[in-house]
Amino acid sequence: MRIGYYPGTFDPITYGHLDIITRGAKLFDKLYVSVSYNPIKNPLFTKEERLELVREVVKDIPNIEVVTNNILTVEHCKQLGASHILRGLRAVTDYDYEFQLTNINRKISKEIDTVFLMTQGKYSFLSSSSVRELAQFGGDISAFVPDVIEKAIKKKFQK
Ligand code: ADP
Repeated sequence: MRIGYYPGTFDPITYGHLDIITRGAKLFDKLYVSVSYNPIKNPLFTKEERLELVREVVKDIPNIEVVTNNILTVEHCKQLGASHILRGLRAVTDYDYEFQLTNINRKISKEIDTVFLMTQGKYSFLSSSSVRELAQFGGDISAFVPDVIEKAIKKKFQK
C-alpha cells in the first residue's frame, strides 16, 4: 500500500490545496492530510477549526484521512507508514522554501522522500494569506474557497 502525507497550515484550505489533494489522492492508495500546529504563523483559525474545515471539505474523497501533528513531519510519516511527503508548487517563489524543507527532511530521514505536484495555472496566484486579506476587507472570495470556508471566514471577521 502506497501512503502519502500532505502537510500544511491550511489557514484556510483553498481550491489550490484541494486541487493538490484531489490529484494526490489518485497517486496514493491512502493520503493523509495533516493540519500543522504551526504557532509561528499565528493562524487566523485555531488548529481545531482548521481540522474541522479540512475534514468537511475532503469528506467525499474516500482514501483521505485528516490528521494533525505536534511532532516532526518525517516522524509522523513513519508512525503512519507514509513513504512520501506531498507538497504543492506554485510560482518560483515557493521553490526556495520547498527546496530547503525537502533537504532538511531528507537529512533527518532518508527513507521519506518528498514529491511535488505543480498547481494548475488558475490557482498559481492563490494563497491562504491572500484569501484572508481579501476577506478581511469584504472582498469576494467565492472563486478561491469552498462555500463552507467562505462562511467560516466571514463569521471570523464579523466577530
Ligand atoms: P505551509 O505552512 O506548510 O506552507 P500551506 O497551507 O501554506 O502550509 O501550504 C501547504 C502546501 O500547499 C504547500 O506545499 C504549498 O506550497 C501548497 N499550496 C498552497 N497554495 C497552493 C496553491 N494555490 N496551489 C498549489 N499548491 C498550493
